Amino acid sequence: MAVDSDCLYDKNCACLHCGTTFTSKRVRSGSQPFVKRDTDFCTYFKNQRLNPILYTVYVCPACGFAFTDQFDPVMPPLVRKQIHEKLTSKWISKNYGIIRTMEEAMATYKLAIYSAGLKGEAHSVKAGLYLRLAWLHRFTGNAAEERRFLNVAVEEYERSYIHSDYIKADKEMSEARILYLIGELMRRVERYDQAIRYFAKVAELKDRTIETGIINMARDQWSLAREEYRLKQQQIV
Ligand SMILES: [Zn+2]
Repeated sequence: MAVDSDCLYDKNCACLHCGTTFTSKRVRSGSQPFVKRDTDFCTYFKNQRLNPILYTVYVCPACGFAFTDQFDPVMPPLVRKQIHEKLTSKWISKNYGIIRTMEEAMATYKLAIYSAGLKGEAHSVKAGLYLRLAWLHRFTGNAAEERRFLNVAVEEYERSYIHSDYIKADKEMSEARILYLIGELMRRVERYDQAIRYFAKVAELKDRTIETGIINMARDQWSLAREEYRLKQQQIV
């Protein structure tokens, strides 16, 4: 599907690493009809080329550092040195501030994952990047790559939960939501025993949270995971 450029606007950005200013496209909110949402919160719009997740990552054309609004803007000198040595010195300038294809969007996530690793971003930030990269592969029907990135995403969310770093790094994440998401991603990568364990933890929050939507979703996915687990064990026997 072609992209109506009226649905996009240019956002002014300043590189967190080198300070270069550049523009990056963003999707105007409300410009795309919502179609559906998967049980791991992956959202579909009428024109998937205009799904806002294609434009979440900003890539500095001058130094190659790639980041999102969730990145911590503080850049200690040692981190700057690392980025310079391992990224900027090898960077061949490319402008991602244009209308992106799915493949270009995937490339921006890979750059952001590499940048987040060099910078030591919070596990929840890394997890969010891996999860969205998995979703882009879901959009293009590449189940093997989707599963590969879901596996890494769930491990990063688990670390984030253990270290509680999502509390500071991701304002939209709550305890119920992260536990649910870990459970659901575990179910999707067929680690059913883990999925069941995490859905049970969501249920334990029942009297301590106002997020009844999440509690209900966890209950549904918990029964689904138990059923899938049972079927899988039958197959093994
Ligand atoms: Zn830069």
